[in-house]
Amino acid sequence: MDQATRLQYLEAMGIDVWVKRQTSPASLAEALPTQAAQIHDKWQNLQQQVQSCQACSLAKTRTQTVFGVGNRQAEWLLIGEAPGQNEDLQGEPFVGKAGQLLNEMLRAIGLSRQHVYIANMLKCRPPENRDPQINELKACEHFLHAQIDLLKPRIILAVGRIAAQNLLMTQAPLSRLRGKQHQLNGIPLVVVHHPAYLLRTLSEKAKAWEDLQFAMAVYQSLSL
Ligand code: SF4
Repeated sequence: MDQATRLQYLEAMGIDVWVKRQTSPASLAEALPTQAAQIHDKWQNLQQQVQSCQACSLAKTRTQTVFGVGNRQAEWLLIGEAPGQNEDLQGEPFVGKAGQLLNEMLRAIGLSRQHVYIANMLKCRPPENRDPQINELKACEHFLHAQIDLLKPRIILAVGRIAAQNLLMTQAPLSRLRGKQHQLNGIPLVVVHHPAYLLRTLSEKAKAWEDLQFAMAVYQSLSL
């Protein structure tokens, strides 16, 4: 018995039948803006949660929170360690000289800041730019994971040793982490040098270039 005949019999017997509605192109078109609006609301909501967060002592010393910046449809997510002085003042990650160098690094592999989303592990500046403490990272990590869930990047760059070690939960030195494809929540992750380190150690620029080329090779292999 075909489906239509079966439904006719059931109807004649007074039995209500729930039939899954087909999604028409028109209703799909209506749903898409709604979905985009929902995602936008989730980002806004998350940003507000960060702005009002007092979950660790960095809330007392920050000028403002540094949520993250960039293209919310980006396939590339860059994750740094924590805001520095300029970031704390401007409310944006990777500004100042390190930010300019990061822009150059991205341009070298054909990307711009419009192609990426940039966030830090900590959303507030540690005083005197000291290293983040474990309790601060633990208190803040759910914000970063929520950003990853919303963005769904195809590739993550861990920028610098501290971000790499904490994201990958290892004490291995940067030299052993770079040049390899790691995973974070099932997403390919590549470790690259921090631009602030490169500003201090210009001789390492060649290694930074290798890191970026490796990251691009990993990204391109994802489309094969
Ligand atoms: Fe909250 Fe993170 Fe800032 Fe700590 S660093 S106050 S957990 S937003």
